[in-house]
Amino acid sequence: MVATASMRLDEGCLPTRACGTIVPFLNDRSKSDVRKQHRAAAAAPDWRREPVAVRATTEFDLAKVDELIAKEEAALEPRHTASIAYRKVAEKHLAAGVASSWQDSPPHAVYIDRGEGNRIWDIDGNEYLDFHLGYGAMVVGHAHPKIVEAVERQVRRGTHFAQPTKDIEAVGENLTDRFQLPLWRFQNSGTEATLEAIRLMRANTGRDMVVKIEGSYHGHHDSIMFSVAPDRSELGPREHPVTVHQALGIPQAFADLVRVVPFNDLAEARRAFEENPGKIAGMIVEPAMMNCGVILPEPGYLQGLKDLCHEHGAYLAFDEVKTGATLAYGGAVEAFGVVPDIVCLAKAIGGGTPCGAIGATEDLFGIVLRGEHDIAGTFNGNPLTMAASRAALTEILTRDVYPRLDAIDAAMKAGLTDVIDRHGLPCDVTGLGAKGSVIYSKQPVREYRDAVGIDERISYLAWLFQQNRGVFKSPWTKQETWTLSVWHTEEDAKRYVANFEEFAAALTS
Ligand code: PLP
Repeated sequence: MVATASMRLDEGCLPTRACGTIVPFLNDRSKSDVRKQHRAAAAAPDWRREPVAVRATTEFDLAKVDELIAKEEAALEPRHTASIAYRKVAEKHLAAGVASSWQDSPPHAVYIDRGEGNRIWDIDGNEYLDFHLGYGAMVVGHAHPKIVEAVERQVRRGTHFAQPTKDIEAVGENLTDRFQLPLWRFQNSGTEATLEAIRLMRANTGRDMVVKIEGSYHGHHDSIMFSVAPDRSELGPREHPVTVHQALGIPQAFADLVRVVPFNDLAEARRAFEENPGKIAGMIVEPAMMNCGVILPEPGYLQGLKDLCHEHGAYLAFDEVKTGATLAYGGAVEAFGVVPDIVCLAKAIGGGTPCGAIGATEDLFGIVLRGEHDIAGTFNGNPLTMAASRAALTEILTRDVYPRLDAIDAAMKAGLTDVIDRHGLPCDVTGLGAKGSVIYSKQPVREYRDAVGIDERISYLAWLFQQNRGVFKSPWTKQETWTLSVWHTEEDAKRYVANFEEFAAALTS
């Protein structure tokens, strides 16, 4: 089954004036969505002409949401005239005028000029308090003096050799201290980290199948780009979810090797293993789901998965690309007290440089140590990345930083919960350490299916409210999500909450 994107678009999405359509769970859409978006925009210049999906589960007044979106978009456009104009220039040589489809977020791409600490400035000169932080990568903040110094020093000494440099050991040692796994290899992105992790599990077991969680994203390679944000109509039965393609161009043969299960349900994971005896190489899981709000694991779930995998001769990999060095010093491993067989990292560990890493047991790395299996790449362990990682991990994201992040997280949660209670909004606030979210549902959300019915227009409106009031939060998210950096303060939390209060007041007035 292919053409997921078109199926989602056909369901009816929110058209926007400047950019076409909002696609459910936009963070995970395929490139084809962008093409469709632009085609739709060209065909329907009147942004209200397209049908609007109304999802049954929402308790928000969606007519009011639409009305406020129109108002906030109209207010935003004049603030972004340089970005809107530059897009036309960039479009001449860059597909859709952006470097990655996910930079093409509604209502239009916002081009950034520079960043410093907890702030960024766009090319119109607007200053924002940054809670987007480059999709959660910039926990060190922008242009941190220690990163600048480390990278500057390395630039002068050479930027690439494809030979190891002496920073690698300090980075590896620090990652072992955090994640309790003895051996590491470096990559250049989270996608490469999960690719190598899955391949390592397959190579060690001689088995082809992997188990993944419905609604989790693990990067854009062919092995795992499935059921990231499937539409409700595509899900299939909960005990046998459909493995839904999340991009065009991925052969069905890859889908046949992926078994999807719901998060926080050991019985369903057990079913997957019992139905496929001797076939499953391993399971990859985001220990706390980060793509539909922050969904924390229930007590015993992660340890139960590890035991289950081992019972069936399979491995457990944590995808800590988002949770690593953000939820706690030792990421989810420390926060939830479970050490898996493999940890995948990227984002925050690179201090703002392109990065990726996998850590694993000596048992798993045995085939690499014996020269039977290669984990390789021209830029793996690039000196600039290693210099920035070393500074980020050993000098900036030190243990003492995490209680401070927890304090700001507590201030965010308390402030937002107070607003939600006073305005009677059907929302929940979740998160841990540097990562948090408002989930636009009164019902507890413990897996993707609990969140799939929430209308994405609500978080888009929340994004517009923050954007118009000087706060940049992650685009594309169906829920309100944020990342904190070491530069954020409780005053910043208050500002975010004050904007959220304006959003809540407008929605309920
Ligand atoms: N895994 C998770 C959990 C992610 O959130 C992401 C990206 O957002 C990735 C993997 C892929 O990382 P990258 O974008 O660096 O390839």
